[in-house]
Amino acid sequence: KRKRDDVDADKLAQAVQDLDVNEPFTSFTDLPLSQSTKAGLKSAHFTTLTDIQSRAIPLALKGHDILGAAKTGSGKTLAFLIPILENLYRSQCIGADAGLGAMIISPTRELAIQIFDVLCKIGRKGHLFAAGLIIGGKSLREEQDALARMNIVVCTPGRILQHLSQTASFSFSVDSLQMLVLDEADRILDMGFQRDVDAIIEYLPKDRQTLLFSATQTKRVSDLARLSLQDPEYISVHEAA
Ligand code: ADP
Ligand code: MG
Repeated sequence: KRKRDDVDADKLAQAVQDLDVNEPFTSFTDLPLSQSTKAGLKSAHFTTLTDIQSRAIPLALKGHDILGAAKTGSGKTLAFLIPILENLYRSQCIGADAGLGAMIISPTRELAIQIFDVLCKIGRKGHLFAAGLIIGGKSLREEQDALARMNIVVCTPGRILQHLSQTASFSFSVDSLQMLVLDEADRILDMGFQRDVDAIIEYLPKDRQTLLFSATQTKRVSDLARLSLQDPEYISVHEAA
């Protein structure tokens, strides 16, 4: 199983390298995605990419940092979940010993749960990632034990910062983190989480990929982008009237 996955991952790596980001992709089947992701998308009845997905996914697969702005309902969730599944799959960051590969920060518990549900939906056809929610509601200790085994975490800023700041006494480590997603960045800032996010970023490895998505482009969002992103691709999708 492991061997076969390694071969698949190598082939995908070449296909992603050859990917032309200027090509307008319309169908998920045209993208170099793992069989598991393709099967998950199919079973969830996702066939055609939305505009933000079409522009963000190829760039994110290739490892670019992204600042993506598109209104609510435009499909931003898959624009970051698909690259997470794929980039972690290609690097074989899978299983309890692999460590935490991706962190998705959401402004509210409700939105975090929604993201997690979509992740489960498209990830359930063959992917073996350990994924979980860290949004409070359980004891810190319980969450910490779960966190130590996760490859992908969906979390709220205050709660994950609580874990990071107490990391010395636990086995949880973010040294292996490859990807950070700040979803609904405008809302994260509106809700007063700027300091928490700044503090979280201080704990994370510098050589990571960061994807920042927002419904609106504000000065504070671009300030946050300057702090968290490296040489980002700017993607702004405006619906044709
Ligand atoms: P946003 O985060 O931009 O507000 P979501 O990711 O929550 O948007 O997606 C909004 C809705 O569109 C959801 O119901 C989702 O299932 C649906 N959706 C997303 N991508 C696609 C797609 N490629 N094809 C069909 N429906 C999609
Ligand atoms: Mg969203």
